[in-house]
Amino acid sequence: MNQKVHRIRPARRSNEAVGDIDPAERAQMIGAAARKFEELFDILQLDYKNDHNMQETPMRVARMWVEELLYGRYNAPPAITDFENVERYDQMLVTGPIEVRSTCAHHLLPIYGQAFIGVLPSPDGKIIGLSKYDRIAQYFGARLQIQEELVGQIGSYIMDMTQPRGLAVRMTAVHLCRTQRGVRASMNSRMVNTAFYGEFLTDPNLKAAFLQECLALERNG
Ligand SMILES: [Zn+2]
Repeated sequence: MNQKVHRIRPARRSNEAVGDIDPAERAQMIGAAARKFEELFDILQLDYKNDHNMQETPMRVARMWVEELLYGRYNAPPAITDFENVERYDQMLVTGPIEVRSTCAHHLLPIYGQAFIGVLPSPDGKIIGLSKYDRIAQYFGARLQIQEELVGQIGSYIMDMTQPRGLAVRMTAVHLCRTQRGVRASMNSRMVNTAFYGEFLTDPNLKAAFLQECLALERNG
């Protein structure tokens, strides 16, 4: 079979960006992926051609992967508009719950949950609009991930872009690879992890204050 295959960029991990791809390349990728889904359904003996529920499924699923589930692989990160920290605010702020949706790199099953982000701004630095934190979490979630690395990617990006004195990212999520298959854990079974940066790493009181705010926001969220 001599089918034209999408150009592969240098080896990268599944949760890294290959960068913006243009609309023509995107359309070609979706078409090629749809043909491969047809082939996969044939192998799995799923008769997409005759099953009235599945006739559009190969193209629908191909488009979903390229445009939604893997959006963060083929698009640039959200632009950050920052504001001068005029009042030189330097106390901790915590935002959340931020809805996070992602896809597990091991099983291709959904991960869904919530993130909480704590920031200790630098009085000389910049601050960013609150909704940007949601957009950043959505963007990095739209790749094949494991939760440990997702939290780290969100944290590193915010650190790089805003250089606060400290940053904390906490995520609590349900993994369908644990609930839908395998041990079939309860849908309430979650994984929680946190990434700390700057003063959050060295100040136990700050860390404790952040976790307390997370629990309060979680109760109300
Ligand atoms: Zn998994």
